[in-house]
Amino acid sequence: MRKISLDKLDQLFAEISSKSALYIPVDTAAGAKFEKYDGTKKMSDALNTVRSAKDFFFPQTENLVDFKVEGKTIEIKETVKEDEDFVVFGVRACDVKSFEILDRVFLADPVDNFYKNRRDHGIIVSMACTRPAETCFCQTFGIDATAPAGDIECHKTTDAVYLEAKTDKGAKLLKSLNALTEDADASAVEAQKAQTKEVFKKLPLAGLDASAFGDGKTNEFFNAPEWKTLSESCLGCGTCTFVCPTCQCYDIKDFNTGHEVKRFRCWDSCMYSDFTRMAHGNPRLTQVERFRQRFMHKLVYYPTNNEGIFGCVGCGRCMAKCPINMNIVKVMKKLGGNK
Ligand code: SF4
Ligand code: SF4
Repeated sequence: MRKISLDKLDQLFAEISSKSALYIPVDTAAGAKFEKYDGTKKMSDALNTVRSAKDFFFPQTENLVDFKVEGKTIEIKETVKEDEDFVVFGVRACDVKSFEILDRVFLADPVDNFYKNRRDHGIIVSMACTRPAETCFCQTFGIDATAPAGDIECHKTTDAVYLEAKTDKGAKLLKSLNALTEDADASAVEAQKAQTKEVFKKLPLAGLDASAFGDGKTNEFFNAPEWKTLSESCLGCGTCTFVCPTCQCYDIKDFNTGHEVKRFRCWDSCMYSDFTRMAHGNPRLTQVERFRQRFMHKLVYYPTNNEGIFGCVGCGRCMAKCPINMNIVKVMKKLGGNK
């Protein structure tokens, strides 16, 4: 394990950003967000960013390709040229875990090369949590926020940041920072972890249990009458899907500029009424069906197709942002026998 004193953190950021793009969480009027380090920005102490770190690998909009059709000839112009390494610093355990959930979608055959390219070039430096919020329930899904992993795992104490490489990529980066860091034993980190674990035990959602859901539970929950009451105030605004680190739905559209066709991929939301509209019609005509889809996907369908892993990481963003105060926790409580 290596260590750097807090007053040298800017030097660490300067060194990393001299070699590759570095993104750190910074405070803004709209809450914490990841921004490119430019030598002046200060790292936010916020528990989490308003939007998750998934944008780095699965951006909200991207121009996939441009093409021109003339007769029987198609001229293709590649528009995505991302071949430089980048570092995302300060990713919390829930967001680190969300990459595993996204990987199972985008890296499964057929591999999404746009996503894979970013995953290959991105280095994740995580940050252990010390002050979890009342909306946190990552522990429901077996996530240890005091051991967030990533390529390099960080722990921030009152006077230093401790760094430990977890992958080859992380080891290479950490080694390149040896001149700024020093060897450290893990005692301060272990003491902090023990203290934070006690805080986690006292959180209001500490006892939230997901075991009623999971692999093979489709028939048990699909026709539950509770979906109607749970969904009746849902506005279909899609906010919950846009702040969610694990939501992965997108739409691809072509725009003819008159000179060429530009193909874009943009995030979509299963909460939107036209999300499932197809040539033959729309199989989900009501908000109850759309609402059910979102939560069944995270709590039943995803684990059914992914060895029991849930499609939620308990980050609490949907709890904080839904305008009608509906969220996955309420669904789990109502349908899953949680108190
Ligand atoms: S469903 Fe809510 S709590 Fe779960 S990962 Fe998405 S935003 Fe976070
Ligand atoms: S659950 Fe809330 S955030 Fe999600 S679509 Fe409905 S109203 Fe919007």
